[in-house]
Amino acid sequence: MPELPEAQVIVNELTPVLVGRRIIRVQACDEKFARQLEKFKIFRPVRGSEIQKVKRRGKAIVLDLSGGFSLLIQLGMTGGLLFFPGGGYPSHVRYWLGLSGGSKLLFRDTRKFGKIAGYRRGEPENRPAFLKTLGPDPLSSDFHSRYLRERGKNRILSIKEFLMNQTVVAGIGNIYSSEILFAAGVDPRQPTRSLDSPAWERIVRQTRMILRRAIDAGGTTIRDYRRTDDQQGTFSSALMVYGREQQSCVRCRSVIRKIRQGNRSTFFCPGCQRLLPFRD
Ligand SMILES: [Zn+2]
Repeated sequence: MPELPEAQVIVNELTPVLVGRRIIRVQACDEKFARQLEKFKIFRPVRGSEIQKVKRRGKAIVLDLSGGFSLLIQLGMTGGLLFFPGGGYPSHVRYWLGLSGGSKLLFRDTRKFGKIAGYRRGEPENRPAFLKTLGPDPLSSDFHSRYLRERGKNRILSIKEFLMNQTVVAGIGNIYSSEILFAAGVDPRQPTRSLDSPAWERIVRQTRMILRRAIDAGGTTIRDYRRTDDQQGTFSSALMVYGREQQSCVRCRSVIRKIRQGNRSTFFCPGCQRLLPFRD
């Protein structure tokens, strides 16, 4: 599932090929996405507009268009954006934008959990709910240990689920939350109200470090994620716990465990990630 680093890689790769191009056509290839394009009245403001900026909000992609309209593209579990210079296109394309010069921007999504929405930038009250509730970006200065401690101080929620909550911090999902907590030496089951200041500081530091390293590596390719040019990200080989259950920890040789938390898989090392004492 694409998380912040994979979205940033898409932004970095699409910016040089999209900015300055005009959108001449919007084409839905799937019922669900056709309904979303209708609902947000996307066809009229998008056709004829120029792509001015490609940016990221959490793990979603935003295209700022001329005329004050923006497209919010959520990748869901298996979504990806592909720039196609011309001609036909691969399977599982749910909608595409026809661009000046004959190229296309394709949204490809096998499982169809992706979403598209549109909004006028001058009307903050009409922004999609996802943007209204999104927490700070972990690579921005709004993300720091004081903020996290404040948000987590009265909660019994586990730190793993807390980090994956998009209203707390934007862009972290299942893979990077497991990796961040391993690097920070924090047990993923630790209730947030029982974490001490040094632990919050390690979490912030490791979040920044791991996300930046993953962006530099082109993201993590697991199953469906592909970069815009169909290349694979190479961060998969740097994963320390994710997907490594029953293998030995690279640091302490303990056996990596896999547990269920909030209906998702969590991977951790019982040797490196110790539970701090807490009361229920
Ligand atoms: Zn270990």
